[in-house]
Amino acid sequence: MADIPFTVEQLRRLRRRVTDWFRKQGRPLPWRETSDPYRIWISEIMLQQTTVQAVIPYFERFLSRFPTVVDLAQASEAEVLQYWEGLGYYSRGRNLRKAAIILVETHQGEFPRELQQLEQLPGIGRYTAGAIRSFAFDLPAPIVEANTERLYCRLLNYTDDPRSTIGKRTLWSFAEHLQPQRQAGSLNQALMELGSQVCTPKAPRCDLCPLSEWCLAFRHGTQQTVPRMPPRQKATPVLEATVAIRCQNQLLIQQYQPGARWAGLWDFPRFALPGLNVAEESPTTLTAAIQAAWNEQFTSPPQFELHSLTLSHELRHSVTRYRIRLLCTTATASTTAVKTWLSEQPATLKLISPEELQQLPMPVTGRKFLQHLTK
Ligand code: SF4
Repeated sequence: MADIPFTVEQLRRLRRRVTDWFRKQGRPLPWRETSDPYRIWISEIMLQQTTVQAVIPYFERFLSRFPTVVDLAQASEAEVLQYWEGLGYYSRGRNLRKAAIILVETHQGEFPRELQQLEQLPGIGRYTAGAIRSFAFDLPAPIVEANTERLYCRLLNYTDDPRSTIGKRTLWSFAEHLQPQRQAGSLNQALMELGSQVCTPKAPRCDLCPLSEWCLAFRHGTQQTVPRMPPRQKATPVLEATVAIRCQNQLLIQQYQPGARWAGLWDFPRFALPGLNVAEESPTTLTAAIQAAWNEQFTSPPQFELHSLTLSHELRHSVTRYRIRLLCTTATASTTAVKTWLSEQPATLKLISPEELQQLPMPVTGRKFLQHLTK
């Protein structure tokens, strides 16, 4: 960005105004009371998933089990995923552990201060590196995330697409210009908080904003149309089924493989049911379709039969752009036949008691189904 529409003096006053506002209005959050880069890192990765309020219990639970980077590096992937359960985007939980191992093995458990070294760690991009460098080490480090992206767009009255290459370059350049030599951490936290609490997406509270004096969107009355965001992708409806197969007092489960939606997590066998319309199919057609899909995807050619296949209930959830309708079904099968079949299967398919399954990481829908089965 060749020019920014603010003088050096205006930027200086803008920084002071927003940090004064933050001192009075900033929310006390567990990861704000610290300069520990480990805690800041965990909170920032979790905040990429969901809201501040939803993150707090996950953050506290995670930190009480893995209080240091060494504790995280020494934990198994399954345990880390269990503590990540419910946050979604499980690759982020796996990357946390991988990065912790690298930090312990190559940085003596310390966080590097240099941008390049931080960005080499799995799951740490420019924003997270900027948050760690500024919040923990108070280094001037620009940040652009959802809240500051919106705030910067409005301050600049940036009317083009902020996610385009040129849009990103413009906003990162502005974020760099905003950086002070000292107390960059307080400034960045203040900007993020202002974006989150005042310069909100739908109805920015400009009357309460400490930056309205300099805000170009406010001056032009364009707050409602800036930033310009691409239209939301239409959700794709998907029908899937999951089967809890009982063999005496055990359940058949599978572990998702690398590259799968929930890699590393355990679940009841689950598969797509393309081309079916639940509202129109009779229960008999539906269970026949589930049996056929089971055979096709797990035991082709069929190795054992599912008995008493029954539709228990439905769960609805979304993953990325898919709106999933999940039919939760139960069935029984011959223990001998299943064990014979399992003897030739990889260890990612097994029989397990419901109590043991409680200790394994599962996707939220699998966990809900297990709770339903054991209540
Ligand atoms: Fe956002 Fe309004 Fe403040 Fe501008 S004046 S930064 S639009 S809240």
